[in-house]
Amino acid sequence: MASVRVENLKKIFRRGKIEVRAVDGITITIPDGQAFGVLGPSGHGKTTFLRLIAGLEVPTDGTIYFDDELVSAPGRIVVEPEHRGIAMVFQLWALYPNMTVYDNIAFPLRNAKVPKSEIDKKVKEIAEELGLTKVLNHYPRELSGGQMQRTAIARALVKNPRLLLMDEPFSNLDAAVRDSARALVRKIQRERKLTTIIVSHDPADIFSIAEVAGVIINGKFAQVSSPTDIYDNPANEVVAKLGGDINIVNVTVSGGFIYLSSSVKVPSPNPKLEGKYRLGVRPEDVMLSDSTDAPGMTFAGKVKVKVSSYVAGVFRTVVSPIDDDSVELMVNMGGYVEPGSEKNLLIRTQKIKLFDEN
Ligand code: ADP
Ligand code: MG
Repeated sequence: MASVRVENLKKIFRRGKIEVRAVDGITITIPDGQAFGVLGPSGHGKTTFLRLIAGLEVPTDGTIYFDDELVSAPGRIVVEPEHRGIAMVFQLWALYPNMTVYDNIAFPLRNAKVPKSEIDKKVKEIAEELGLTKVLNHYPRELSGGQMQRTAIARALVKNPRLLLMDEPFSNLDAAVRDSARALVRKIQRERKLTTIIVSHDPADIFSIAEVAGVIINGKFAQVSSPTDIYDNPANEVVAKLGGDINIVNVTVSGGFIYLSSSVKVPSPNPKLEGKYRLGVRPEDVMLSDSTDAPGMTFAGKVKVKVSSYVAGVFRTVVSPIDDDSVELMVNMGGYVEPGSEKNLLIRTQKIKLFDEN
């Protein structure tokens, strides 16, 4: 196992006259045994960051240490990828279809020219740990989804890496098996206390596995914190949107109230604030009701229902203040709400976020 220390890491690609600052000054320490997540939109430097750690990209600037060993320096790979003790996983599912479970797991060891007797011992050990002993002679097509995932993990871990790097590992899995695959990776990572870096554009991948996560925007960390903190206290609007569905509306803060329209308002968390802001509130923190109170929620005003449509277990319902049609909020409701009807809007005010206008 190893800690990873990255200092002022930069990778600039040049395409003709154009400079792409794929990784633009990242400093982070990932302690030994931690599961660290990198969440960010496509094209913002996640894969480049991981490839730098793996030694597959030469840093333009900055250094990388595994424990106290310098592995990458400006313009230079100090320790080659194959000597870093890393396992890199792209798509967790992708087994070799024409090889048995045994051969799939043995593959990285054979590549590394490990002696046959040692290969046999290591394959059997990890198969035992992951409950694959009985299917070692089976082909991938004969396995259950769970056995396939465990075979893929066994193959990644058979060389006993000190660092596990995962790049969008669940992107090729059906939604139905993704949850169990995440749970499995989390369990193994925690049991083995294996230092792990997982990168994904999908917050569910990061939030379900990482103990600490960095949100990468334009090659820089916009926020590094626990998953719950990133979700509940996002550093800015972009981070808030990456973390999950959120309503963002222009508001005016005045006299201790946040006005969504002239009639829809909630008390301001900070009485000193005045002026124009952007309010963020997640759909689960707003509610429509015929009553004006609900536990933990504040009555904000009257709204009119525009649309209510069923998606994935909830009715996504769009409402506007009755006096301002241009402001829209999305509310998740347990049942269908008739468009045109008027409801009371309740907001969990301690969960609202105020961002500066950008
Ligand atoms: P992500 O994994 O977050 O989608 P990448 O790290 O793949 O992002 O890419 C970050 C940026 O660097 C993108 O603009 C991408 O086009 C650019 N990039 C990545 N690899 C190369 C390369 N080998 N040559 C030139 N540009 C690259
Ligand atoms: Mg990528």
